[in-house]
Amino acid sequence: MWKSIRAWFREECPHCREKLTYLRHTLHTHVKHCPNGHYILETHPVLGVQVEIHQESGRSGNSNQQQLITP
Ligand SMILES: [Zn+2]
Repeated sequence: MWKSIRAWFREECPHCREKLTYLRHTLHTHVKHCPNGHYILETHPVLGVQVEIHQESGRSGNSNQQQLITP
């Protein structure tokens, strides 16, 4: 139970464990990102939706992986 809640409110980069910082913060959208550019977490509290964007470094091209998370 607590584990799932912690995962939902994850505040650190899954790649380097750096604490996420706010990139953009509006009424309907909270966007946090890894200061090292690995990871972006978009939260839409009104919709109850989070979008994870993993920026894979060290590979050629920009193959961003997006994952939609619904509760
Ligand atoms: Zn990172």
